[in-house]
Amino acid sequence: MRFATRAIHAGQEPDKSTGAVTVPIFQTSTYAQDDVGKTKGYEYSRTGNPTRTALETVIASLENGRHGLAFSSGMSAVDGVVRLLGKGNHVVVSEGVYGGVYRLFAKVFEKSGLEFSFVDTSDPDGIERAVKPNTKMLWIESPSNPLLKLTDIRSASKMARSRGILTVVDNTFMSPYFQRPLELGCDIVVHSTTKYLGGHSDVVGGAVVANDDEVSERLKFIQNSVGAIPGPFDCWLVLRGIKTLALRMERHNVNAQAVAQFLENHPKVERVLYPGLRSHPQHDLAQRQMTGFGGMVTFWPKGGVGASRTILKATRLFILAESLGGVESLISSPAAMTHASIPTESRMRTGIRDDLVRLSVGVEDVEDLIEDLSRSLDVS
Ligand SMILES: *Cc1c(COP(=O)(O)O)cnc(C)c1O
Repeated sequence: MRFATRAIHAGQEPDKSTGAVTVPIFQTSTYAQDDVGKTKGYEYSRTGNPTRTALETVIASLENGRHGLAFSSGMSAVDGVVRLLGKGNHVVVSEGVYGGVYRLFAKVFEKSGLEFSFVDTSDPDGIERAVKPNTKMLWIESPSNPLLKLTDIRSASKMARSRGILTVVDNTFMSPYFQRPLELGCDIVVHSTTKYLGGHSDVVGGAVVANDDEVSERLKFIQNSVGAIPGPFDCWLVLRGIKTLALRMERHNVNAQAVAQFLENHPKVERVLYPGLRSHPQHDLAQRQMTGFGGMVTFWPKGGVGASRTILKATRLFILAESLGGVESLISSPAAMTHASIPTESRMRTGIRDDLVRLSVGVEDVEDLIEDLSRSLDVS
């Protein structure tokens, strides 16, 4: 089966006991046993729940991976993966990671004896230089947030594998519709399903997909021990979102390309970053490793922080809010919002300036979106 078909059918056969076409919300914590230890595959909902199983099956299928696990949030998925490591282990991390991932690594895990080096993983030599004898994991976010820098997943995974290092890719920005990191050679894929997979800004969730049996067993053990599981209703919301993933991603892509081109030609815009623009420094790599360019657009208006703040306040359709990947368009200031936990000095070094504006382009009529931006740029 192909992608859009699997999004609707994988793990989602009609319910055997009732014929319900939609996977039921199994709102139960425990399951009757026929005899001591004789279960129908479920014993307690921290360990497993049928609604969650359906979600885990479809996400694994879309990533073309063997084992999927659903988590209560993207951050708990990230946390579960890093718990594969132990004291004294070192991780090489893309310096443009999501602010919350930076915070978890630098402020929580460093205290428990893990080491992290934040480097520009878009430079293959930079990754190799950062590798130490105790490096056990390479953590990639591609495209990065909010500067949309790409890492060559295939070559980075190959280098890491040859040194016995696990490669993890946070695939939240592209979704499996446009990028499948396991096919490019990485070991573990992480998602915040809050974003494109859920797609409607109505649920917080996370997921992990891996091929290796042993890594998956350890992840499952960690998750069951810690308890970072999504409830059945949240699983059902993400399942419902995934059914239209292919349709939505196509539209996000077309809309974002049009918005990026509009901004690039606008006299009041200094610079636009979008992997689908020929001006993007890694447009060739984007075409090689992704099958579309996604819905995220970043730009710098002329006129600095003042102009940027005016635009953030002036848009009507683009809602001023954190997050991304929903049907509705959002606008944000990464420096003041999603990336505020990153020290100013390192934000400036990596280019997350205060005047940078990030758009999550939704699936509305693109003419309306462009009119909204046009009017807001005029007053800036
Ligand atoms: C949102 C996000 C996360 C964190 O996920 P939550 O669901 O908010 O916990 C991790 N990585 C990326 C790229 C994200 O955008």
